[in-house]
Amino acid sequence: MLEARGLMVFYENMLALNNVSLTCPDDGVVGVFGANSAGKSTLMYALSGIILDIQHKERMRGGERISLFGEILHDGEDITGLKAHQRARRGLVLCPERRRLFPESTVAENLKIGGYLASTAQAKETFAFVLDLFPALNGLLRRPAGFLSGGEQQMVAIGRALMAQPALLLLDEPLLGLAPAIQHTVVKSIPHIRSERGISVIVSEQYARPVIPYVEYAYIVENGSTVMEGTRETLLDNPDLRAAYFGCG
Ligand code: ATP
Repeated sequence: MLEARGLMVFYENMLALNNVSLTCPDDGVVGVFGANSAGKSTLMYALSGIILDIQHKERMRGGERISLFGEILHDGEDITGLKAHQRARRGLVLCPERRRLFPESTVAENLKIGGYLASTAQAKETFAFVLDLFPALNGLLRRPAGFLSGGEQQMVAIGRALMAQPALLLLDEPLLGLAPAIQHTVVKSIPHIRSERGISVIVSEQYARPVIPYVEYAYIVENGSTVMEGTRETLLDNPDLRAAYFGCG
């Protein structure tokens, strides 16, 4: 289980996350929904530990722009001070917004890079799982990732994150810029990932409608603060949220 308590992130004097708390149970699928600039990526960076790397880079450049507060517990242990690579070893793996693949490396290479934490047997088995999950990738393994469509790149990005053997996958805006048909393919991988691998998922999105059927619980973030949280049913029952986030007024 992952528990974040009272997370606050400042970029200089700009408050990007304001006292955000979140829980993701083992085997759960949790949504984080919010408009542009609400703080979704900042939250994902805070949970994955990437924010510490960004903070470190800033310090190396002589700046002290990023301040962090709050605590993060994973399976009851305080991981607030752990770097991203240490959290990845515990199974917290981020699939970042805008995919961030190596464009000149092939699909197969991008996937294999993700498996650096895995044993050879795990990497081989997970590689096969990814190709089962996204059969479209079978014919693209030798193609440079930069030549793929946005949807194909997203499949590779999720596959690469799976290769890192997550226990909890953090999916930051996986549907960004994708056509509706391909959104469906991407989003329906979430229940498979959970049921076939026992991986829990935290997924952030701006437009929640395609994702809401697959989450059990979600947080609505506005201007860095959680303005509402609840089960899927509770949120879907709220007329304001239905209009603003679920597109089903
Ligand atoms: P989007 O959907 O646009 O990705 P988001 O919900 O993921 O939005 P964040 O990227 O977390 O939002 O940004 C939250 C706020 O923090 C925004 O106002 C953004 O401009 C600001 N911000 C994000 N990263 C930095 C940074 N490195 N330095 C300064 N400000 C930042």
